[in-house]
Amino acid sequence: DVVVVGSANADLVVKAERRPGAGETVLGEDTVIMPGGKGANTAVAAARLGADVALFGAIGDDHHGTILLDSLRDAGVHTELVETTARPTGIAYITVTPDGENSILVSPGANHALEPERVEKALSGAKVMVVSLEIPLRTVERAIETGARAGVRTLLNLSPAAALSERTLAALDVLLVNEHEAAWLLGSADDPAKLLDLGPRAAVVTLGARGALVLTPGSAAEIAAPQVDAVDTTGAGDGFTGALAAALAGGADLESAVRKAVQVAAISVTRPGAQPSYPTAAELPGG
Ligand code: ADP
Repeated sequence: DVVVVGSANADLVVKAERRPGAGETVLGEDTVIMPGGKGANTAVAAARLGADVALFGAIGDDHHGTILLDSLRDAGVHTELVETTARPTGIAYITVTPDGENSILVSPGANHALEPERVEKALSGAKVMVVSLEIPLRTVERAIETGARAGVRTLLNLSPAAALSERTLAALDVLLVNEHEAAWLLGSADDPAKLLDLGPRAAVVTLGARGALVLTPGSAAEIAAPQVDAVDTTGAGDGFTGALAAALAGGADLESAVRKAVQVAAISVTRPGAQPSYPTAAELPGG
């Protein structure tokens, strides 16, 4: 029902007293390898909630690719559309310092080898398509335009922010961004309702601990997030996106779907990591 078009990365996380400056070597703790990447995270979040989900993405023929496939399959994501390419699996090199700050260097590798050719095939039978960045723009644009023509509901999580064609934005059902991405797109944070002027039928702006804003022509609804003790917000936006897609594929209207996504993302920030932090439907209030 849900096809996710996006990236898969191995997150290599090292804690260190401080991050090295130019020309400097710093010793850190043991490397922790976690499955990540916006596309893989989104697919795992949707599958945990019981949606029938496939990821259209690319990995390398290496150990990191195996870790990603295992994590996707454990969550119940269909991996037939994950291509194994000649380039290495994408890696995010993450340094975490005692102040909780991280710095991240991403090597996209195989993600940049995800070509648009097979998008048509990937979309057959899909109700909802979710696209995120960290993959070639031409693949993002082709996926959305093809999906729209085929009558698939198209969601774009424009993260990290990138300039897309007017045609692609106009083909979108839902544009999903955080506050920074909204401000980047509009050149200011003053009036997020202007996101609709870019062409999508609806827009959702995530507001961190404050929840999310649902924008449709002539209406703006703010959905508050439950108050929780956040320990790790890594992948919160991806979890939100996956939950939104799962709810829409299940027939929910946009506002109810956002309410669900806000619940899911709030649980995810109370647990460490991205993919391991996403709840099942049974863990949700009333679930
Ligand atoms: P991103 O992770 O993409 O930067 P946000 O920071 O807006 O996006 O977070 C995405 C969603 O995660 C929010 O809309 C909210 O539902 C949830 N969330 C994030 N931080 C918190 C928090 N401290 N408490 C509760 N929910 C949160």
